[in-house]
Amino acid sequence: MHRRLIVPGALGAAVLMLAIPASAAGHSPGAPGIGDPYYPAYGNGGYDVSHYDLRLTYQPATDRLEGTATLLARTTQDLSRFNLDFLLDVGEVRVNGAPAAFATSGEHELEITPKTPLAKDTPVTVVVRYSGVPSSKKAYGFTSWHRTPDGGIGANEPEAAWWWFPSNDHPLDKATFDVSVQVPDGTQVISNGTLQSTSSRLGWTRWNWRSDKPQATYLATLAIGRFDLTTGTTESGIPVVNAYSKDLGAHAGAARASVERTGEVADWLAGYFGPYPYNALGGYVPNTGTGYALETQTRPFYSPRQFTNGSNVSVVVHELAHQWYGDLVSVRGWQDIWINEGFARYAQWLWSEHEGEGTARELADYTYASHPADDPFWTVRPGDPGPDDQFHLAVYDRGALAVQALREAIGDEDFFTVLKGWPAKYAHGNASVADFRRYAEEVSGKPLAALFDTWLYEPVKPAASAARSASVASAATAEPASWKKIAATNGVHAH
Ligand SMILES: [Zn+2]
Repeated sequence: MHRRLIVPGALGAAVLMLAIPASAAGHSPGAPGIGDPYYPAYGNGGYDVSHYDLRLTYQPATDRLEGTATLLARTTQDLSRFNLDFLLDVGEVRVNGAPAAFATSGEHELEITPKTPLAKDTPVTVVVRYSGVPSSKKAYGFTSWHRTPDGGIGANEPEAAWWWFPSNDHPLDKATFDVSVQVPDGTQVISNGTLQSTSSRLGWTRWNWRSDKPQATYLATLAIGRFDLTTGTTESGIPVVNAYSKDLGAHAGAARASVERTGEVADWLAGYFGPYPYNALGGYVPNTGTGYALETQTRPFYSPRQFTNGSNVSVVVHELAHQWYGDLVSVRGWQDIWINEGFARYAQWLWSEHEGEGTARELADYTYASHPADDPFWTVRPGDPGPDDQFHLAVYDRGALAVQALREAIGDEDFFTVLKGWPAKYAHGNASVADFRRYAEEVSGKPLAALFDTWLYEPVKPAASAARSASVASAATAEPASWKKIAATNGVHAH
């Protein structure tokens, strides 16, 4: 049931009648989606959030989550009403202190009607009180909340927020976060950023996490369960907090042997991408049966299954590469996914080279040779793959081939300038594939439209240049040593 506020009595009605014609003129509802071509209902229009304050209580025994979200936002139009994206049960909404009417619609819309229409370009505070059992909620037939024997986890792409906090759920609207969650003593809470403090009282412990740099909503994560935490500091001085479920069983050693390399990998990536952009770093491995990993900001999520065959530092390289390519600079729309996945995969190729397990070029040649021209792999267009193929293998592998093709077209010097310059140019913002092409053209002074078209947009296998044919032919029989470990990360973002 959704409560609607009723203006009591005749006086209220009279005030309302006087108020509406004057103030509602020019005020209109915010759009129910932010305008993403793949996911028209994701995010919302009419405002921009700058901060989320989430103060929650979670009971692992029942998977019940309740509390208050306080959003600080600014209107971008005169608003009579606006939406948040959310699935849990809302008990009360306040806008600028006054109770607001609300209702649900669509798969995940929470429509909020403030008592007084909101003027364009003014600050707005939205308080949402809510509760619910996240694992009982589905949208479009699926859930991104993973129940574990000892708690639950919110981590998925592109949708994860709906199950644990109300938001403007699209990378175009980044914000800072304070995530404070109270759990029974003996249970741990993992989220993004810095652990500011914990405090215990009457059998409950409150964990206070802070992300003080803008973060996309899908990159916010919450994991509750029985975790061991490890701490350290990178050579460059970034504090590291990793967390491992106490119940990883046979995967425990390999998981730690991989994720404990986080500081080393981040410092190594900084050599290619520029200084690590955040003040916190780490990773966590919960007790879940999922198979994927995700670049949740500052603290990626890794499924235990990633470590079935022993340690896999390559998956750590992939998720940490996203801290620059995906998190610091995010997609403008989900069609720009190549900038995330092509470069995270290419970072794995560079790591392979670093480890002496095959050079980026050898991996490119082997990848190219392993897919014959009639392989449907080549029909996927990494530059605009469509929502159904957003996380297709081709976005990763053909995407990384495109990066290698760019490197060969502009030469190493300009290529590595682009690789490092891009995260700085669009830091904490959003950018598109076209923005990337323009930037690479600017740095190299070369027209690159044809190259981008060939490798990212044509639904056919690009021809190998004459110079490359011989090495491609020999590559077909020489699997690089790193191939299987890289391939083990192919499913990193599958639902
Ligand atoms: Zn990825």
